[in-house]
Amino acid sequence: MAGHETANGYVKRIVDLRSDTVTKPTPEMRQAMANALVDDDVLGVDPTVDQLQKEMAQICGKDAGLFVASGTMGNLISVLVHCEVRGSEVIIGSESHIHHYEQGGISTLGHVYSNIVPNESDGTLDLRKVEDAIRPDDVHYPTTRLICIENTHGSLGGRCIGSEYTDKLGGLARRYGLKLHIDGARIFNAATALNVPIQRLVEAADSVSVCLSKGLGAPVGSVIVGSFEFIAKARRLRKALGGGMRQLGVLAAPALVSIHDIAGKLHIDHQNAHRLAEGLTRIKGIHVDLASVETNMVFVEVTEDSPLSANEICKSLKNYGILTMALTKNKVRAVFHHQISEDDVQHAIRCFQNALCRDCRLLWRIIQDALCRDCRLLWRIIQDALCRD
Ligand SMILES: *Cc1c(COP(=O)(O)O)cnc(C)c1O
Repeated sequence: MAGHETANGYVKRIVDLRSDTVTKPTPEMRQAMANALVDDDVLGVDPTVDQLQKEMAQICGKDAGLFVASGTMGNLISVLVHCEVRGSEVIIGSESHIHHYEQGGISTLGHVYSNIVPNESDGTLDLRKVEDAIRPDDVHYPTTRLICIENTHGSLGGRCIGSEYTDKLGGLARRYGLKLHIDGARIFNAATALNVPIQRLVEAADSVSVCLSKGLGAPVGSVIVGSFEFIAKARRLRKALGGGMRQLGVLAAPALVSIHDIAGKLHIDHQNAHRLAEGLTRIKGIHVDLASVETNMVFVEVTEDSPLSANEICKSLKNYGILTMALTKNKVRAVFHHQISEDDVQHAIRCFQNALCRDCRLLWRIIQDALCRDCRLLWRIIQDALCRD
């Protein structure tokens, strides 16, 4: 992979751990795109989209599926379908993607009010807190209609939630006449890690949004699944949001390759994440909670004795061609996907070592200065000035 500007400009090997969204379509995917049978999906007749939707619905054990442009659109449409009556409220986790990273779209576009319940560190919501958050029938309150959870939980390090919990939450929802939506952007990773079929994991849910472009490694899109009635309403909303796309089979085709060829190998990404985490526990200045590395993410905590902030670690790593993301002042994230090999992991561990080593950083500075045009110019000026005297 090329094209990443590092400070020295000499690094050839790039290991891109910023996210599982950075994968490039494989040759098989491009071939599938070129050969895809297509027709007008707004008219509902694109055969490749139809196949993808049917397969995803079957994997999730639901009636039907709908291809949408993104995970954000999938969650937005799902929440809006469940909360189609004005004055609706949704119970969501304090660390959820819907709450933090979707521009508050369910409110700005859908007029849905959010009732935020604090996420536990394992990604769940405390069932008592959820029950307490459900509004009684009273004119002062909005009407609770929906509960959302996220599996795996992205901002809590890719923790996965088992079916036992989800069943209980679903039971609670049904007792109160509420719907349950699962933001399953990485539900394939959860199912792999728990060794439970997806269908079982989402049995209690009324709808699920599954990203094709995260761990599955397809270039574009998500699929939402649910009952026939849910999908019929979702299809109308998708059109209103500008998400009705014509010869969409060209995007469904690589997603089918992902489901058939990549979904079954996600355990390799999880192994690689664990390998990195293990390697990093031996390095001073950072800490990884090994037990919390359940899927394809590693959250690296920067300890107080570290000379570098998370941002500085990312910058330093970038000089070695290791791309990561600083989530906060003291948290760096590395995410694994099918285009990262075991050898990349060993290389990344060595680069973390170098990035955090004081002597190596000093050496880098000297090399960078030596290679820097301005520094060389400055030296020439100083030398010239010294020569004349
Ligand atoms: C990425 C992500 C989304 C949104 O998907 P986009 O395709 O980026 O819009 C939603 N939920 C979770 C948990 C995600 O990780």
